[in-house]
Amino acid sequence: MNKSEILAWLKTEDENSLEELWRTADEVRRENVGDAVYLRGLVEVSNVCARDCGYCGIRAGNSGVTRYRMTADEIMECARLAVGFGYGTLVLQAGEDYGIKTDWLSALIRRIKDETDLAITLSLGEREDHELVAWRRAGADRYLLRFETSNRMLYDRIHPPLPGRDSDRFQILRRLREIGYEVGSGIMVGIPGQTYDDLADDILLFREYDIDMIGIGPYIPHPETPLGQAGAQISGSSPDQVPASELMTCKVVALTRTICPLINIPSTTALATINRSEGREHGLSRGANICMPNLTPRKYRKIYEIYPSKASCDENADESNARIQSRIRAMGRTIGVGRGDSLNLNKAAGKYENTSEV
Ligand code: SAM
Repeated sequence: MNKSEILAWLKTEDENSLEELWRTADEVRRENVGDAVYLRGLVEVSNVCARDCGYCGIRAGNSGVTRYRMTADEIMECARLAVGFGYGTLVLQAGEDYGIKTDWLSALIRRIKDETDLAITLSLGEREDHELVAWRRAGADRYLLRFETSNRMLYDRIHPPLPGRDSDRFQILRRLREIGYEVGSGIMVGIPGQTYDDLADDILLFREYDIDMIGIGPYIPHPETPLGQAGAQISGSSPDQVPASELMTCKVVALTRTICPLINIPSTTALATINRSEGREHGLSRGANICMPNLTPRKYRKIYEIYPSKASCDENADESNARIQSRIRAMGRTIGVGRGDSLNLNKAAGKYENTSEV
């Protein structure tokens, strides 16, 4: 599929054509990654953040946030829950929190690996190279870092760098691959100022970067952020502005599945947030094969508020697990057994075997 074909799909509102897109994406998903939905248990280990991203509710400048950082014992409890629920992966996500020290996290990764067979995914922002290497050495398997948008000017506007440092997420993604991580990335759909052209470029970049997992979620305005406050003025009534809608997010999921058949695609929490009754199912039936049930203790998940009214915010881990598993089964899909490693990486393994420094 070339860029003009992608653009035509992004802009179409014809329901018959869209049914065809959903059907194709679902078939490509079934043929390439099967019916199993792999569950990755998400632990939001800290909402402390050094960054001031214009879109994110836990940005450093939001003084209204009560900050927390989970202890190693609390995170181990979540790892045990993940094992009990039959998950194959634990995702440790946080703001860019430099209070999460290199050695502390290395020791925790080793502890999780000693006690469980869980794959470990890290999603901790733009950490230093030596830290990424140390955590891979300690046993971390995957790293998630969304590039958010491929439009450099838009990215710079919403994602100011730390003083004295560049923010080049593509360079970090390449480096993560070299270090030997399975690499996840992704975007937000409908960022104020994001055009259809930008979105088509994003989708083409997923293919170019040969990424293992792509997370695609709608941008959800947070009232305590610069973008949440100025968004409507920025996007105005421009016909080129991409809507932050469920439909547009599903189009991107479906096109991404069609173009990158072997990758893992989560049906994101943001999608489940903007359509609570069916958003998760729509993602899964239009190309996605992963869900990330929340394992974070309830007292913390409420204040990991990257956007308002996040789905699963009022539940505990048992409730999130039961609800997600029953909804997946009700769709006639199965729950994946094991880690659900990237088939893409297995296929491409030869390409990278000499570049690992670990
Ligand atoms: N600090 C790490 C990072 O930046 O990669 C991980 C945590 S960050 C909160 C995880 C993701 O949340 C971001 O990559 C972004 O796409 C998403 N996010 C943040 N604010 C959002 C918003 N207002 N609407 C939708 N998604 C949002």
